[in-house]
Amino acid sequence: MNPEGDFVPLPAVVARRAARSSLPPPEEGLRGQRPRSDTLGLYVHVPFCTKKCYFCSFNTAPMDEGSMRRYLDALHREIDLVAAAPWASRTRLESAFFGGGTPSLLSGAELNGILDHVRERLALAEGFEVTVESNPESLDLEKLRRYRASGVNRISLGVQAMDDAILPAIGRLHDAHGSRHAFALCREAGFDNVSVDLVYGLPGLDLEGWTRAIRAVLDWEPDHLSAYGLTLDDGSLWGATGVRGLPPEEAVVAQYWALAHEARDRGLEHYEISNYARPARRSRHNQIYWRRGEYLALGPGACGFVGDVRYANVKPIARYAALLEGGALPIERAEHLTADQALAERLFLGLRTADGVARETLDERVDATPALRGRVDEWLGEGLMERRGARVRLTERGFLVSDALFVDLL
Ligand code: SF4
Repeated sequence: MNPEGDFVPLPAVVARRAARSSLPPPEEGLRGQRPRSDTLGLYVHVPFCTKKCYFCSFNTAPMDEGSMRRYLDALHREIDLVAAAPWASRTRLESAFFGGGTPSLLSGAELNGILDHVRERLALAEGFEVTVESNPESLDLEKLRRYRASGVNRISLGVQAMDDAILPAIGRLHDAHGSRHAFALCREAGFDNVSVDLVYGLPGLDLEGWTRAIRAVLDWEPDHLSAYGLTLDDGSLWGATGVRGLPPEEAVVAQYWALAHEARDRGLEHYEISNYARPARRSRHNQIYWRRGEYLALGPGACGFVGDVRYANVKPIARYAALLEGGALPIERAEHLTADQALAERLFLGLRTADGVARETLDERVDATPALRGRVDEWLGEGLMERRGARVRLTERGFLVSDALFVDLL
């Protein structure tokens, strides 16, 4: 999960229901806050990609040496400015997530420099988790060993597909063998926490091919698996131009279930709509998002959440760098959440997970709109939602139709 672009991927209905409160000046959005917790996550956006994948709408830019140098210089300035916030010395980081873009385009020395600087300026919590999103073609053993020695303890490998006809057709630069090799290199370099990213619902992908891909990847025994159904935003090439060969909805549903069953049979817990983990291998960082915890943002387009303020950095690298070179935080937008928005987020984020939400959280929402009581009873009766002690959660069938449920609920 990549907090870049929108503050939180809330359904549009939430944004419409919740009146926006007045916006604080951007810098005050971060510095003027008091974190609710003494532990925070850290998201670092690395915006460079060698080539733009056709389905991708993330904030990315072509890689060149000059841009990378300017970006890194700005990032180090940003670390200093964020660490100078009045509350920063009272907090500890429990995770850092390098997302992109392609963070594995960073050399071992560049990544080490960033992590050293973070450690110098901010305190770390025990078990500090550091994840680097990586593309197979950008990894080699020496780089992985340098990452490991720098404190990186989790790799998230962007495999996406295992079909050598589909991979170039979606804009990827690696083949299936390259992914398998990169995974093996991660293990050889000593990483005992490796996640694999896959995408289903791709053009030309049928159930048989998808099942083969899942089984091939599960044979590697990854510690964690993220699998997203293809969605096309306007910011992607395919979102703008359209694409042929998308499987029909029932085929995408069948692919969802194939993954859920195969992952369960191999002992992975389906702990979030799109995420599966071996015991004790849930993503510590991503759970901060789903539990509505707080996190700092570094890098162009990165989003953060501190106190009751969500904020986002400017996206263009040149603008991001220019602001920092002038001594300013590169925050473009910041907003205080209303109580209504905060409740909607608690429900929306919590119900994405197998832990669900506290029953009183759902009751609070239902009490405000009594007509919802009947809908919730229907979902419980249809097996889309279930009560577990003091909590309520969506079932795997509920995960599948969660977008529709959220429209009613929020
Ligand atoms: S999917 Fe990843 S590698 Fe491809 S363009 Fe998007 S961020 Fe870059």
